[in-house]
Amino acid sequence: MVEVRLENVTKKFKDLVAVNNLTLTVKNGEFLVLLGPSGCGKTTTLRMIAGLETPTSGRIFFGDREVTYLPPKDRNISMVFQSYAVWPHMTVYENIAFPLKIKRYPKNEIDRRVKWAAELLRISELLKRYPSQLSGGQRQRVAVARAIVIEPDVLLMDEPLSNLDAKLRVSMRAEIKKLQTRLNVTTIYVTHDQVEAMTMGDRIAVMNAGRLLQVGPPTKVYLKPKTLFVATFIGAPEMNILDATLLEKNGRLIVEGNGFEIELPMELEETLRDYVGKEILFGIRPEHMTIQGVSTLEHVKRTTIIEGITDFIEALGTDTIVHVRVGDSLIKVKLPGHIPLPIGKKIKIEIDLDNIHVFDKNSKKAII
Ligand code: ATP
Repeated sequence: MVEVRLENVTKKFKDLVAVNNLTLTVKNGEFLVLLGPSGCGKTTTLRMIAGLETPTSGRIFFGDREVTYLPPKDRNISMVFQSYAVWPHMTVYENIAFPLKIKRYPKNEIDRRVKWAAELLRISELLKRYPSQLSGGQRQRVAVARAIVIEPDVLLMDEPLSNLDAKLRVSMRAEIKKLQTRLNVTTIYVTHDQVEAMTMGDRIAVMNAGRLLQVGPPTKVYLKPKTLFVATFIGAPEMNILDATLLEKNGRLIVEGNGFEIELPMELEETLRDYVGKEILFGIRPEHMTIQGVSTLEHVKRTTIIEGITDFIEALGTDTIVHVRVGDSLIKVKLPGHIPLPIGKKIKIEIDLDNIHVFDKNSKKAII
């Protein structure tokens, strides 16, 4: 295991800037998730760390050692891809043994390590089979076993679960995370799936259009997004964003939008003073609201009320998403459990004032 450091790394493909001045440190033994939409530069970043692409500018370090121009074989890394990339003409045993053979390990050491990796991935009884005789989940286990068998300094994973069905994905998620914790190997995991990122990462690095937008522990990124993009990319249903204006009334700060008015807590006044009289974007997550008389918010210090009319109900079984018309906007409120509500009913929405967000309308950066 080793610390991975990217310093001002840029990768251009002709005119296209795939990765734009990326600076990031992945700590020793950390599980870092690179999260972002398709085409944002995640895979290119991973391939530069692997040595499969060379940065146009910038430097990459493993600990004190610069690896920017080192070929993959000299980096002691392993990679797991979306397509399992296990060799069809080799048995499971041969597949897992392959990286060790290339490194010319002695036969008994190869045998010991293959059995160790197979046991960790719970595929010991499959060692004699060929990949065509395995399920998708089993094949992916073989790919992971083959990746860890050399005990790499850095484990790189590129959407390794996206070919698996939903149920298997959930169980493999937990298995990979447990395995990584046990092996304590520095891991960089690429995904566009925010649930995977939230549940697996020690930290998440959110990228968009080649740029790194925010890095932090999942809960921090979720609760304190620094930009509108991060706020709306993470969370399902996504954060409600309402056009509003910040006003001062009777010495208090008010967020005023079409059909609602919210008085802000006193301590926010200093941060927001420069925005008085300006248009802003007001954000609130669906689960940070409730409907009065229907459900209550747990562990909440202070709330305020806005009014609306129920427009549509999504009954998900475990949760209910209530679409509410507030002025000319539709907002979503997420309530735990099954809550049948009539459509067209006047309701009072209670908002958790400690989980509100205000964004600058021009820069799209979070002000609070
Ligand atoms: P996805 O989740 O779809 O894999 P990504 O975030 O991993 O997306 P990258 O694969 O890193 O994104 O691609 C970033 C940008 O660079 C994209 O616009 C892509 O088309 C472009 N790109 C990637 N590889 C090459 C290449 N070899 N030649 C030219 N353009 C490339």
